[in-house]
Amino acid sequence: MEPPLLLYACKSAFRLTGGLSTRITVSFALRVDIKSQTAEELKALFQDWGQPGYRVTQLLEWLYVHRVAKWEQMTNLPKALRERLEGAFTLNSLDLVRKQGSRDTTQKFLWRLADHSLIESVLIPANPALYGEASDRHTLCVSTQVGCAYGCKFCASGLEGWKRNLEVHEIVEQVLAVEREESRIGPNHDPSAERTQPQDKARWQMADGKWQMTDSRPPASPPPPASPPPASLQSAPSRLVSNLVIMGMGEPLANYDNLLKALGILNAPWGGGIGARKITISTSGLAPEIRKLADEPVQYRLAISLHGATDETRVKIMPINKRYPLRELTAACEYYQKQKGRMVTFEYILIAGVNDFLAEVKPLASLAKRLNAKVNLIPYNRVEGLPWERPEEQQQEAFLSALEAENVTATLRREKGHDIDAACGQLRLRTERELASKS
Ligand code: SAH
Ligand code: SF4
Repeated sequence: MEPPLLLYACKSAFRLTGGLSTRITVSFALRVDIKSQTAEELKALFQDWGQPGYRVTQLLEWLYVHRVAKWEQMTNLPKALRERLEGAFTLNSLDLVRKQGSRDTTQKFLWRLADHSLIESVLIPANPALYGEASDRHTLCVSTQVGCAYGCKFCASGLEGWKRNLEVHEIVEQVLAVEREESRIGPNHDPSAERTQPQDKARWQMADGKWQMTDSRPPASPPPPASPPPASLQSAPSRLVSNLVIMGMGEPLANYDNLLKALGILNAPWGGGIGARKITISTSGLAPEIRKLADEPVQYRLAISLHGATDETRVKIMPINKRYPLRELTAACEYYQKQKGRMVTFEYILIAGVNDFLAEVKPLASLAKRLNAKVNLIPYNRVEGLPWERPEEQQQEAFLSALEAENVTATLRREKGHDIDAACGQLRLRTERELASKS
């Protein structure tokens, strides 16, 4: 089996001296990133390479427990194997451009990707449960695209259009890069010297076609490892990010395949180990993909960016409502609920003079009750260059009370991170504008 290389053929015509002309075909391979591979894919590849199964477990630990950013840091893998891996895969990490916030508040990370595109992730420390879970320690808000094609009128992410989908590893790496950054593990960090927290040394290994808890150390008898596993393997750093919200830049369901593969890796016991119920996907309302997600076996939570409870209001701020009006969107949500047996959440940004009228409460309450949905009210975060404003606090509270009076479960986010451009796309937009004004 060949590793998954993307082959590109580049054909060039060369005129040689003496009037002789020939055509030379140059083929070069674009390696995919190792963090886009599932354990099953790696296992098949290692089998093909004649490598024992425990090598996959060791590799996965370097990637997802120790979060190393260099092949040579994988000290218990034989050099020849590391070189073979390096020839077949990239091991990219995100490059931190800017960070805002302090350790005990919301922190925003602006990352540069290999093609110099900018994306954001936001780390939100322990919060009262917003999406139904009992408590969360650290929630990471993850981006799925560079820019966004959906052009919601109030949102910074869509202001400069859509550039591209994020690759699987670029979604996965946001979690690892934030954790590296927060524990001050840089790409050059030596994991064998790191300060660690005690953790169960049992790990996951494929046996009889299933992933089972086991010790990652190789068996005592043949084949022996090239070198003993470092001490750090026996006491690994624990996972900082306990919850994910897929609410950063971009429309996650428009990058469906990459999103689902990345979440599979972040959810897997051999990967991120973040429970499916601690992962919330937010969508502006792509009805067909909501139905597709409903048919997946995994139990991710679903949040719908509603922001208007009538077509009349919603279409003014969300162009997607023309393609999937509320009737279609709510039917898809009902299907999701029926398939999954769980509540969806409605996100409702309060924008002054647009959707914060008390007249909007009744239709919102009726939709929420019909779908047994919880409503998260979010005061709008101002975006430079856009005319929209958040309502006065009194108006926000009045909207919440009116909703509660209709017997709807609702929260008002007295938002963390308002001061650091926490809404998606704002830091990137500002940085890109600053960079443009300097050039
Ligand atoms: N595209 C997806 C996920 C990314 S946007 C979606 O629309 O759901 C994540 C959330 O941030 C959405 O609910 C979106 O409406 C909200 N949002 C965008 N701009 C905002 C702003 N300026 N203030 C508050 N929330 C905002
Ligand atoms: Fe895109 Fe979501 Fe922003 Fe709308 S709110 S433009 S869908 S990122």
